[in-house]
Amino acid sequence: MTANKLFFSDGLPAGLEEYSFILIFNASGLLVKKIENGSSLANYKEIKAGLKNISPPFAAHFLGREKGASYYCFQADDNFKITGTEFEFRDLRSLINCLDETQFRFACLAAQVLYWDKTTKFCGECGALTRHSPSERAKICTGCARVFYPAVTPAIIVAVMNQGKMLLAHNKNFAEGVYSLIAGFVEPGESLEDCVAREVLEETGVSVSDVKYFKSQPWPFPSSMMIGFTASYKSGDIKPDGEEIIHAAWFGREELPKLPRPGSLSRNIIDIMMSDIN
Ligand SMILES: [Zn+2]
Repeated sequence: MTANKLFFSDGLPAGLEEYSFILIFNASGLLVKKIENGSSLANYKEIKAGLKNISPPFAAHFLGREKGASYYCFQADDNFKITGTEFEFRDLRSLINCLDETQFRFACLAAQVLYWDKTTKFCGECGALTRHSPSERAKICTGCARVFYPAVTPAIIVAVMNQGKMLLAHNKNFAEGVYSLIAGFVEPGESLEDCVAREVLEETGVSVSDVKYFKSQPWPFPSSMMIGFTASYKSGDIKPDGEEIIHAAWFGREELPKLPRPGSLSRNIIDIMMSDIN
């Protein structure tokens, strides 16, 4: 991704090209175009007519440039209309496997940038208005000059292994019958490894050892970073906490329950770890 100093423009940015992608979010999600076997972001040429209906000022953020195309995003209100049956607003989660990897990555970035913009209109310290920095993706308080960068909230997710079986749990917020890995937010003052051990113990009563980093995934709902780990069972019997986790058990490769949809880090770790079992 090429860095560029234009991070914010009060209206349609100068230099917008016909093939620049414009990521428009409203209360229902992201504007995409239906294509064969999936969805695509919409470019400026395709939505130019619709953009004329927007009353300025609106804040268009420059996200970056990759493979010759620039990416911009902005938040639309309910008055934004676009003609053409090929366009629809879709919940970002539902687009995980519908957009190509680059487009989905920019969609995640856009969601986080817009969330940050919406939630940092005022300084949390002195209450004055903030303004966008002209030189970086940051907002500066007009009263006390405090700087606000987009915040990312770290969360861990862990595959605990025990003699070829994996600890999977049903969370009360999951769809019926779906099981996934143990996950939770990192607390202040805690290392990622400590967080893994604490979450597994709190939610299932199991102690772990041998905590190892696996891989990560930005998770813009609204601003998380999922950090994946593997760990080994050390001791304890499974006792779900009954608050978040309703049921948890050890599952072998041949007896897996309903899993999270492909594309999520949890599913990715489950698939890779299970395929490694002999
Ligand atoms: Zn301030």
